[in-house]
Amino acid sequence: MKKEPCTVCGSDASVTRKSYRFDEMGVPVELQNIEVIECAHCGNVDPIIPNMDGLMKVLALAILCNPCKLNGQEIRYLRKYVNKSAREFSRYLNLTVSHLSKLENDRYEITPRLDKLVRLIVGNLDPDLAEGTKELMKIISTIADCPTDEKQEIQIDPAAQTYCYA
Ligand SMILES: [Zn+2]
Repeated sequence: MKKEPCTVCGSDASVTRKSYRFDEMGVPVELQNIEVIECAHCGNVDPIIPNMDGLMKVLALAILCNPCKLNGQEIRYLRKYVNKSAREFSRYLNLTVSHLSKLENDRYEITPRLDKLVRLIVGNLDPDLAEGTKELMKIISTIADCPTDEKQEIQIDPAAQTYCYA
């Protein structure tokens, strides 16, 4: 079995392939079939992410084309993905900075219209997201207001650069 030094205690830790719930990007995702370093000595678990930039792009695409309405953390992710400050992005949406902040913190309701406006602006700001914008146009009329607990989790295969909703 493949071994790697544990990043916490330095012991020989085993590397296995599995799915791993990853929260570090601000929107929780389930990474499929990635290598994970598991230390039997201290219990630390570290995913090995092959292509962080690619992963961030796939997550942006998955959010853009999500069949359920966006939540605050997804709006924040998209805004940061296209490298806009809250001040800049609030101007795109004709909102005050404080209104945008409340939306991103799920303290104001995200209306269906605003949801679509966010997706269309973000999808067109970054040419790398063009394929997502195309896909978005196929589902934009059917975006549903799924209750938070029914919203499906995003699953990403970072090696294949693909996503699905579980
Ligand atoms: Zn360890």
